[in-house]
Amino acid sequence: MLKQDFKYPDTKAYDFVVQTLQKRGVDLHDLAQMAYDLQSDFLPDLTVKECYDNLIQVMHKRELLNNAMVALELDRLCEEGQIKEPLESIIKNDAGVFGVDEALAIQISEIYGTIGVTNFGYMDRVKKGIIRKYDRDPQHVNTFIDDLLGAIVAALCGKLAHKYA
Ligand code: MG
Repeated sequence: MLKQDFKYPDTKAYDFVVQTLQKRGVDLHDLAQMAYDLQSDFLPDLTVKECYDNLIQVMHKRELLNNAMVALELDRLCEEGQIKEPLESIIKNDAGVFGVDEALAIQISEIYGTIGVTNFGYMDRVKKGIIRKYDRDPQHVNTFIDDLLGAIVAALCGKLAHKYA
């Protein structure tokens, strides 16, 4: 139910996403490095520090936080057996034709325009292995987090490209 006086908890959402990513073994510096590797050919003046500083800005966007919270919670709920069948098996087996993980991620990647979307597609095909290694615990369900990480890096690529345009 819509409550007019609800104040959106942006800081809490940011803290939740960053802390959950840390718990899942993700180092934000690694994400900044990935964006640097993808964009430095096009942006010769780019630095890794600049990528990191922009990453922190990107991660404060409400559009990113909303989808990230949903993605991270769906992985957790599935892992803890809180999701009913057939959805549980679909998520657990990362079924290729499911597509909701990618849909949540693509919405993040397009925050800064189409450059983010093309970068997301590239990472989805080529860099999946690299993204996957950020989930260091094989006990975890990774269906949403891998796409989420690709999307965060992709959105950052879009932001950096526009900054220099
Ligand atoms: Mg996935």
